[in-house]
Amino acid sequence: MRSKAEILQVIEKSGGIITERDPHLCTLRLRIPGGIINPEELITIGKLLRKNEIGPLHLTTRQTIELSHVDREKLPSLLTAFGRAGISLGAEHDEIVNITACPGTDRCRLANIATRNLISSLDGKIFRKKMPIRVRIAISACPNGCTSERLSEIGITGIREPIRNETRCTGCGTCAHTCKENAIIMINGRLTLDDEKCMKCGMCIDSCPFHLIGGSVPKYVITVGGRRGRHPQLGYELIQVTSEETAVAVVNRVVDWIYRNAYNGKTLTSQLDAMNFDSFKRKILSEFG
Ligand code: SF4
Ligand code: SF4
Ligand code: SF4
Repeated sequence: MRSKAEILQVIEKSGGIITERDPHLCTLRLRIPGGIINPEELITIGKLLRKNEIGPLHLTTRQTIELSHVDREKLPSLLTAFGRAGISLGAEHDEIVNITACPGTDRCRLANIATRNLISSLDGKIFRKKMPIRVRIAISACPNGCTSERLSEIGITGIREPIRNETRCTGCGTCAHTCKENAIIMINGRLTLDDEKCMKCGMCIDSCPFHLIGGSVPKYVITVGGRRGRHPQLGYELIQVTSEETAVAVVNRVVDWIYRNAYNGKTLTSQLDAMNFDSFKRKILSEFG
């Protein structure tokens, strides 16, 4: 039979447990894919915290909940109680950590893609997979980027391209007024699109009172190698795909590629060249493009 110290050692290797300034205390990070949690789970968490006299909750930038100032001695019984209630610990080691996502078409009127299934498909398959580096995956359903997905190791952004019908345009300027990028300019009373400036947010598509701007099918832009922190860096575009299934398949391939090629101790951004990102991109484009 294992001693309490051995049990604690095993627990602490599992990720989601963060030592605090006072080494006798730790913070527990929970697994909350996309930051979605139902009232019953919240009540259960609240009751367990009350019962164990645990300090305040912290809502993190990566959409998890952290329980602070947990006495290490309480970990075995507390984690058993969480397990019974179906509440799992998050991740914070070199692994796939909590997947973040915006509400998508479920709620946001600017969304180009749905996010709920996407979160479940990714979380169910790859959450807490051991990796050479920490891998954050974030999903934003439009280029407004509410989850800073392009600053994550793997980002998914939903876009929609406007398709103009110039012949019947009245030149009213409503669409140009809607565009935040000044990508629509009126030349000789006709709409002209500046492709360089257009972010494909799709906002102009529904703005035309005469329904003269169509929209492409929604696309999932997958970026790789972004990072936050001291030296923020936008991820590099890998591919644009038109279905959720393909987006999931591509992300799985990226995870596998990172698993096989990245090495520990450096950010993904700084090792993309050494990992032959360009050649990986060509391969992905030929397979899924
Ligand atoms: S990223 Fe876009 S779709 Fe998602 S919540 Fe923000 S504005 Fe809405
Ligand atoms: S899709 Fe967005 S950025 Fe592009 S022209 Fe329309 S409103 Fe502007
Ligand atoms: S809103 Fe419609 S009619 Fe008005 S300028 Fe734009 S495309 Fe033309």
